[in-house]
Amino acid sequence: MKIKRILAYRVELPLHETTYKWSGGKSVTVFDSTVVRIETDTGLVGHGEVCPLGPFYLPAYAEGVRAGLRELGPHLIGADPRQLAKLNRTMDAALKGHPYVKSGIDIACWDILGQASGLPVCELLGGRYGQDVQLYRAISQESPEQMAAKVAGYRAEGYHRFQLKVGGDPDTDIARIFAVAAKLEPGDRLVADANTGWVQHEAVRVAKAVRDVDVYIEQPCLNYEECLAVRRQIPHPFVLDENVDELGILLRAKADLAMDVANLKISKFGGLTKIKQARDLCVSMGIGMTLEDSWGGDIATAAIAHLAHSTPTEFLFSTTDFNSYGPVSIADGAPQRVNGRMAASTLPGLGITPKMSVLGEAVVVVS
Ligand code: MG
Repeated sequence: MKIKRILAYRVELPLHETTYKWSGGKSVTVFDSTVVRIETDTGLVGHGEVCPLGPFYLPAYAEGVRAGLRELGPHLIGADPRQLAKLNRTMDAALKGHPYVKSGIDIACWDILGQASGLPVCELLGGRYGQDVQLYRAISQESPEQMAAKVAGYRAEGYHRFQLKVGGDPDTDIARIFAVAAKLEPGDRLVADANTGWVQHEAVRVAKAVRDVDVYIEQPCLNYEECLAVRRQIPHPFVLDENVDELGILLRAKADLAMDVANLKISKFGGLTKIKQARDLCVSMGIGMTLEDSWGGDIATAAIAHLAHSTPTEFLFSTTDFNSYGPVSIADGAPQRVNGRMAASTLPGLGITPKMSVLGEAVVVVS
């Protein structure tokens, strides 16, 4: 089987809540997502999706996905999409770095491999664990009272994992954590995700102020060493996210006892092939995980669901249903949230069918 044509489509994903806000005053109102379509000489077609969280979250931006596909695509025409390790080596040889550019291609090739073998991607990624997986809800940065009210509202929708966007003014963040913690019920889990927004002394101060609150602290500071210094001074379970983008840092963080949970995002690693390595390494090292992506619609959510559902249950802290955050659906067959949980499709591949009328005309065509 050979890759015959690579196409990309640009889709806009607005939000039910209008704006998503996190540390440092960063926000997005309409997400710019790229759907990748890979056509083969057998007629099988696979899809992937890449959606950066704006241009200021990770070193990734939406137009960069499309520019990268134009650069990388010609090197992949004629390659066998089922030979994923080999395909990834070809991509890495043709374009250094830029993992988020490669992510959509890799996901689409897993979709093809699944269809070609008659198996859902989650079974190819290791096997399906349980009936479904636990979702978290991100709580956009607002006043303490507004965030507490949103947690109560999302619990009524079935969520029991809440990720507060903090990383703002430390005193306000302390109030945010206390206000939300007062609304928690047995079985709920609370994460305060600073998204690198605190400097070291602020992070230590916030964590010590909420010493007795049952809360995880996620990525308090900009770099790994600052996070490690904070980790060593506070009692809370600790999550690393923005600094974790390849296997070496996971090994270092394990040796330093720098984390209890790693937040692994598909496009941050460059696709399902590479995040599977990281996921399996975390399982071997006894590290829990939030498995997700930066953002996305139905196709990204389907890929996330297959990755999460193929992860041993006790290691999966939470995952995300980004396709429930906005009104635009770009594919049929994507996972739908039920009681705060979702399940990967049982159909071959990702189990999705893109809505071509929503995707519109291709903005990248490589053949
Ligand atoms: Mg995070």
